[in-house]
Amino acid sequence: MSIIKLHNTYFKKYISEKKIAEAVDLMVEQITEDCKDETPVFIGILNGSFMFVADLVRKYNYNCTVSFVKLASYEGVSSTGKIKQLVGLNEDLEGKTVIILEDIIDTGNTLQEIYDIFNDRKLKQLKIATLFFKPDVFKKDLKIDYIGISIPDKFIIGYGLDYDGLGRNLASIYQLTNPPKMKNIVLFGPPGAGKGTQADMLKEKYNLIHISTGDVFRSNINNKTELGILAKSFMDNGDLVPDEVTINMLKAEVDKNPTANGFIFDGFPRTKSQAKALDKFLEEKGELISGMVALEVPENLLVTRLLERGKISGRIDDQDESKIRNRFNEYNTKTAVLKDYYQLQGKYFGANGVGTIDDITKRLSEIIDKL
Ligand code: AMP
Repeated sequence: MSIIKLHNTYFKKYISEKKIAEAVDLMVEQITEDCKDETPVFIGILNGSFMFVADLVRKYNYNCTVSFVKLASYEGVSSTGKIKQLVGLNEDLEGKTVIILEDIIDTGNTLQEIYDIFNDRKLKQLKIATLFFKPDVFKKDLKIDYIGISIPDKFIIGYGLDYDGLGRNLASIYQLTNPPKMKNIVLFGPPGAGKGTQADMLKEKYNLIHISTGDVFRSNINNKTELGILAKSFMDNGDLVPDEVTINMLKAEVDKNPTANGFIFDGFPRTKSQAKALDKFLEEKGELISGMVALEVPENLLVTRLLERGKISGRIDDQDESKIRNRFNEYNTKTAVLKDYYQLQGKYFGANGVGTIDDITKRLSEIIDKL
């Protein structure tokens, strides 16, 4: 996932796990060359450095010891006000080679405080290693011995670094980005759950463009387009149309509406690869799926509903119970997994799909209002 939201602020992926790992590898190589005969003491500065320290020492193949300290400030009684102290530094470091491991160094103010504290400890040598470094804002006259990745002065999070407490667990680095402009909703549910009916209500209410891939296919079939001819045999049997065809069609539908407030996707995505393609496609536009809103209806009720609909609409795939069963089979084997896909991103919201149209719209609106 490349765009994420923390505390109502949006971040996009900036440095991949792979790039980070490569930078850590290089640092380990350099440190090994300089210190392998020394049994260095690696000291991580909490909280931000924990992930970096774990990855770095795991790759360091010679003897070493590992500690963590935290720089805490307390109100001093002296006229200088705040005094900083290192918490957790209990061991005797005299005569040792100490390597400070920092997640990020920007102005260098914190580093200076740490440097001064360690310098009083009669070490053999003190070295500084930082995974990220902002050369444009660094203003101290301190030597930094090992630098992983130099970056411009941007606010970054992930890989130990937080935004107001959140984001430390992200494996990649993210940077601030503009909030998406669209509200994009995946309206989800098995065939016959009432997605089309609800989409009609919701698109008015939220001023969104409704894209039903089933409808687009059907209109292509009616107009006997190449796409329609291709899709017809799959649809009539209740099979899914191949991903590539469907994905390209969906992209074209989205691109027809460049000024939209957002979209209600109905009947798409239906496979994991469609979901991934949709995420990637939206990301390129600086947008994302706001949430998957799912209509939950028991299967036995659905079959009755679909057979009723088939009598009125004349849809071939709604008239024959074996075709309907095949659509459920397609749904259960290929589509239902999307619940997990969006749930993992914290974007799945289920609603009871049994009741009057208005009641159900109300339930869905309560969810959509919060997205
Ligand atoms: P629907 O109107 O959503 O029930 O879709 C009717 C039929 O259109 C499905 O049974 C499929 O054959 C085809 N179809 C609609 N959307 C998709 C999709 N996202 N992927 C593959 N096939 C689809």
